[in-house]
Amino acid sequence: MPNPIYLDYAAATPVDGDAIIAARRYATKIFYNPSSAHFLGQKASFAVERAREQCARAIGADNSEIYFTCGGTEAINWAMRCVLSQGTRIAVSAIEHDAVIANAELLSSGGGFVDYIKPNVLGTVTAEALEKSIGTDTSLVCVMAVNNITGAIQPIKELCQAAHKHGALFFTDAVQAINGIKIDVKDWDVDLLAVSGHKFYAPKGVGFLYVKKGVKITPLLYGGEQEHNLRAGTIDVPSVVAMGVAIEKAQANVAKYNEYTAAVVDAFESNLAYGETVRCEKKTADIISRVFYFPNKSIDGGRLAVALSCAGVCCSVGSACSAGSAVPPRTLTEMGVAHPECSVRFSFGKTTTVFQAERAAKIVNRTVRKLIG
Ligand code: PLP
Repeated sequence: MPNPIYLDYAAATPVDGDAIIAARRYATKIFYNPSSAHFLGQKASFAVERAREQCARAIGADNSEIYFTCGGTEAINWAMRCVLSQGTRIAVSAIEHDAVIANAELLSSGGGFVDYIKPNVLGTVTAEALEKSIGTDTSLVCVMAVNNITGAIQPIKELCQAAHKHGALFFTDAVQAINGIKIDVKDWDVDLLAVSGHKFYAPKGVGFLYVKKGVKITPLLYGGEQEHNLRAGTIDVPSVVAMGVAIEKAQANVAKYNEYTAAVVDAFESNLAYGETVRCEKKTADIISRVFYFPNKSIDGGRLAVALSCAGVCCSVGSACSAGSAVPPRTLTEMGVAHPECSVRFSFGKTTTVFQAERAAKIVNRTVRKLIG
């Protein structure tokens, strides 16, 4: 396929050049096990601690509050499972990623109780909706910081205050938030926060869990004594080094990133002849969901995404993890969007050009015209 256009940055981003340069030394020269007591191992351990400091500083945390994981899904499972063992009632927003929903369903199937908090029609989970959904026995509230289908930014500080008022801990999945919003865990006062490297120009298979000082967690993975005896397994040193560089860059460039991706998305949308973008109260610029509904000729999002892929535009229907599912994205259904089954998600990054966005829009127009005959 000559010159394909990639509009699926919410699924994966390329690794940043500076992050690769920093990581390479730890893959080849300083490849030692950071848990080894000898001085070569300590060189690797020093790099891990520097990366921990970069991750902590980027989100306003202390170094001791950062625990490395092998990505967002592990961080989410860890955050939820260790708290689930402390209570049997949780509240989760109805627009969470599958990793959160699956853990909530696991709790329900084991006899626990889950309250689902609905978003409003503009994709926001409000503090009022949260307060209506929880009780004094709720041990944990989970609301993501940025939605992976619409880019909707959630009012985490207010949601967290509301959860604390009722005595519950607050966990946020910040996997899609690092490029588009400034994170300050102390200002938000969240108890737990999950991050994944491959959404912000770091490698796949690396992430971390932030755990506020004083919040008690138990291990998810048992074995060695890594991460203060709380997360067994040898740390992937090159990947955490890359993540440290990438998160610092991403958080330092949030304003520039939003300005750039907004211009690219504007070039895309203003050249589209069909469909309606799902509107949100407050959102990052880089993710849009668009509904292509035609009353006389129904084309579902899955069919359109396949046709677009054949025409050279790579986008997705819902999240990459649910790409094989015939069910429309939960987020849109819960918001009450009409015809969510006709939606496609386009997501943009710092390497998408205005030229690509305009060309992609023209390919979308041509493909839709073909499908509606
Ligand atoms: N949470 C959100 C909002 C996501 O978009 C994703 C991945 O798409 C995940 C969690 C899972 O992260 P990972 O792929 O690192 O396991």
